[in-house]
Amino acid sequence: AAKKEGRGRAKSFDPSMLESLEQRELLRRSLRMALAQQQFFIEYQPIVESGRIFGFEALLRWRHPLLGTITPAAFIPMAEADGLMPEIGAWVLEQACREAMKWPQNYTVAVNLSAAEFLTSGLTDRVSHTLDLVGLPPDRLELEITESVLLERTVNNIDTLNTLNVLGIRISLDDFGTDYSSLSYLKTFPFDTIKIDRYFITDLESDLKSQAIVRCIVNLAHDLQMRVTAEGVETPEQAKWLRSIGCDRLQGYLISRPLSVEAIGEFVTQAETSLGQMLP
Ligand code: C2E
Ligand code: MG
Ligand code: MG
Ligand code: MG
Repeated sequence: AAKKEGRGRAKSFDPSMLESLEQRELLRRSLRMALAQQQFFIEYQPIVESGRIFGFEALLRWRHPLLGTITPAAFIPMAEADGLMPEIGAWVLEQACREAMKWPQNYTVAVNLSAAEFLTSGLTDRVSHTLDLVGLPPDRLELEITESVLLERTVNNIDTLNTLNVLGIRISLDDFGTDYSSLSYLKTFPFDTIKIDRYFITDLESDLKSQAIVRCIVNLAHDLQMRVTAEGVETPEQAKWLRSIGCDRLQGYLISRPLSVEAIGEFVTQAETSLGQMLP
């Protein structure tokens, strides 16, 4: 099991541990060079639907030469602040699409978009150019955005998502329930999938309020012809309950931790038998 959990799995390195401003400056400077130095890599976390693999979410990691593997929560805010995210995000998109081309089946690849990438003009052109370059069919790509990325129902935002949608790329609303959770987003934007934040999944077994909220989101999504993914599923009881209320897809440590790209083949091979045992 230790082997499966993985070589290169991200440890939680927290830049606030760096006491001095100098140390933080050092990290900031090495972040600026990380792309050129090829220190970024992607792990892939499976998403399952009806006991079968639906796709994999691309999760960015930074292999720092001295500090080891750094999780995105620890460096993405810094990259955002320094204006590096559009470039890093473009790398993630292309790399994830390239790696998805080598998977044994036509699974969906889900890529997270940052606010900076979304707001830089020409997003739809860049995405469709990348798909053409790599040869990935648009319907294999899902872009995950959070409500904070959209912030406003501006004409531009609506146009961008509609254009992606027309191209056949699917959009999922990530971390639903934690940010602004304005229901008007669901009315205005063409989401294919809503991802319910782990916050509501963690205590499902004990908290009737979480159950009520999750059930409500699932019903609402289905009435809107959208799919629902539950994030952070860690126990068979959570999985069982989620399936009993009709939640379409599950993602979380119960199914698998994020995997190195090399580990995907083995996961796929074992999934047919192991998913059946794992998921009630
Ligand atoms: P997210 O998109 O909501 O991704 C889910 C996070 O939850 C991942 O953390 C994943 O490893 C973690 N997770 C999955 N299942 C479980 C579980 O069962 N239990 C627990 N405790 N955690 C689970 P990670 O990889 O550290 O990523 C954190 C966030 O960083 C992501 O949240 C996403 O918002 C952002 N991120 C990751 N990669 C990228 C990227 O390429 N671009 C952008 N813009 N953001 C990214
Ligand atoms: Mg995500
Ligand atoms: Mg999420
Ligand atoms: Mg989340």
